[in-house]
Amino acid sequence: MSDNDKLECLRELQKVLSEKFDLEIQAETLPADLRKEETLLKEANEKYLELNERYKAVTDEVKSLSIRYEDAFNARTGYEKQMEYLNTQREYEALSKQLDEARIQEATLLKQRTSKTQELERLQGDLQAQETVCDEIKARVDEERSKIQAHLDEIAASIEEKEAACERIKGETISEELYAKFCNIVRKKKGLGIVPVHGQVCMGCDRVLPMQFVIDLRLKQQSNEIEYCPYCSRIIYYEELPEDIEKNYIFEQLEPSKGEGKSSGEGEGQKSDSDSYDESMGMGEGFEDF
Ligand SMILES: [Zn+2]
Repeated sequence: MSDNDKLECLRELQKVLSEKFDLEIQAETLPADLRKEETLLKEANEKYLELNERYKAVTDEVKSLSIRYEDAFNARTGYEKQMEYLNTQREYEALSKQLDEARIQEATLLKQRTSKTQELERLQGDLQAQETVCDEIKARVDEERSKIQAHLDEIAASIEEKEAACERIKGETISEELYAKFCNIVRKKKGLGIVPVHGQVCMGCDRVLPMQFVIDLRLKQQSNEIEYCPYCSRIIYYEELPEDIEKNYIFEQLEPSKGEGKSSGEGEGQKSDSDSYDESMGMGEGFEDF
């Protein structure tokens, strides 16, 4: 039923708007994975630099130990040569002592150098492994970045299309003010900004509306006016259901008072006074003015 072309428009708009909002959320959350990868890369690079510092320090230590070992080696071989030219027992004893010390020194330095050299080799291996890790993450970051950029561009283009579609649908039928308000409702209400009323029940929030409110709603609907659910603030419209189904959504018997007899309200008993509708029920708590 094309009872109200505004409602028709809004229902169409709702579909496009919720698609647009989904796209906006996607565009916001997409770079999250990239940020994660970038953090990983930063950490991996820091670890590489640390290892590299350590590698340089150990290289220097190995160099220094090598020089000291060379010196110790030369000292020991020098003493050994001198041993060949000794004349007295005293000289021999003194030199023997020096030679022993030199041998110990040489052996100690050799051991230290060997151990440091091994450490250096390990570090070299670690450094290469870390370099590979960094390269891998970097490749992922680059790929992710270009992929995301391409994807973000696509999303931006889609959003533009949706906006153009909204403008087309909106046309002259929906005012800028109503459009802005409706956008807010759809956004806040997770894509559901316009809902039918079945019998007396708002299908957005399942609350029961006063019968008089529903009767007024139907009148407004016919004169192209917009009404909001007093409980959930969504735009509502009356949707006629087969009588046997509709009766499940009716909790109050009240006949339209002003000759709108063609409505589905047949079969009600006596005409209860429509004044009994308490206006204060209209604005229940939780109503948001968008
Ligand atoms: Zn509602």
